[in-house]
Amino acid sequence: MKNNLKKLPKLLSVIILVAAVGLTIFGSSFKAGIKNSPVNNSQSDSASTEPASATEAVELPDAKVNIIAVGDDLLHLSLIESMAKDADGHYDFHQIFSEVKEDIKQADIAVINQETILGGEELGLSGYPCFNSPWSAGDALVDTGFDVVLGASNHALDKGKQGVLNTVNFWKTKHPEITLLGLNDSEEMQDKINIVEKNGIKFAMLNYTYGTNGIPMPKDTPYAVNMLDDKEKVLSDIKRAKESADVVIVFPHWGAEYTYSPNAYQDEWTEIFYDNGVDIIIGGHTHSIQPLEMYSKDGGRKMPVFYSLGNFVSGQKEWQTMLGSMAKLTVERKNGQIEITSASAVPVVTHYEIYWNRDPSLKTYKLCDYTEELASKHYLHMSKKQLEDLAKEVYGEYLEY
Ligand SMILES: [Zn+2]
Repeated sequence: MKNNLKKLPKLLSVIILVAAVGLTIFGSSFKAGIKNSPVNNSQSDSASTEPASATEAVELPDAKVNIIAVGDDLLHLSLIESMAKDADGHYDFHQIFSEVKEDIKQADIAVINQETILGGEELGLSGYPCFNSPWSAGDALVDTGFDVVLGASNHALDKGKQGVLNTVNFWKTKHPEITLLGLNDSEEMQDKINIVEKNGIKFAMLNYTYGTNGIPMPKDTPYAVNMLDDKEKVLSDIKRAKESADVVIVFPHWGAEYTYSPNAYQDEWTEIFYDNGVDIIIGGHTHSIQPLEMYSKDGGRKMPVFYSLGNFVSGQKEWQTMLGSMAKLTVERKNGQIEITSASAVPVVTHYEIYWNRDPSLKTYKLCDYTEELASKHYLHMSKKQLEDLAKEVYGEYLEY
């Protein structure tokens, strides 16, 4: 694990500058959006729009969908060892989510990035650098209310082909109602465009990773992990997604770890996604929060880009990695037109007081519910103020707090 967090103050000042320039460009409201319809943030007035056609306006009723997406479920062995065991001797991960469960449950669609594979105990549980997590970790996600699980991460091949196959098999057999993205047990599964429909609005969801930590794709299962660098396939997926859904969301696993602004690779792909009609980007992987931007070109529509949500939970040991965020979006159909009517970032904190041993205190909190008292008890002796300052600097006006 690299650690260049010491560069943070310098990095932050650069980001603040970049953010300030960005906000000037994009202004406080973003009024373009899907299919040339308006997009507004929660603070701005709702802009009116013409229906696409009279027929569409009559046939499709107004509808609203709230989406929440959270960052990395990064299950270090120290974290796994902090969990209690259930009656069957399996680690019980429910405690992690007790403070945020209500928010997850109330969302119409809740998404989480499962950074580590769920290869199950039969492959041997492991942490950094080659992770493998138990199936009970997946059960806790389902009970918490997550609907969509992202699997394309740089750790997807940590246990080779069998790790992927076990993960896919777990979701397919134990929780077939969950939409798993990014990991596949067949070419047919990889070719399928996953669509989640809520309240009559269809969301196509695509998930890719920049790489797999140098572990080559198994030759006999070339479809195992969705790779961002297979550009032809990515573009073909987006085209098919647009044909069959109202909204296309891409979840890229990308970026430079421990940085607070997008790198050239993220910029390049953001432009490609925009040029090909993607509506929303929600990224992860960096273990640090990165900005939410209303990306636009040439005065065109605006596309919310959450560059990276950071960790949702982890056993990492740098205070900055304890801060993550929930992406919150509202998508509406009004008079037959699809609009993104709000986009914001809600900061969250991983709290733990004991390292690598049973720790009933290990939970993820919304930063607004977190206290200085809890922060002082954190194993890393944090302050709530430092977490707040970082969240404000990175998210600016899009911070929901
Ligand atoms: Zn990652």
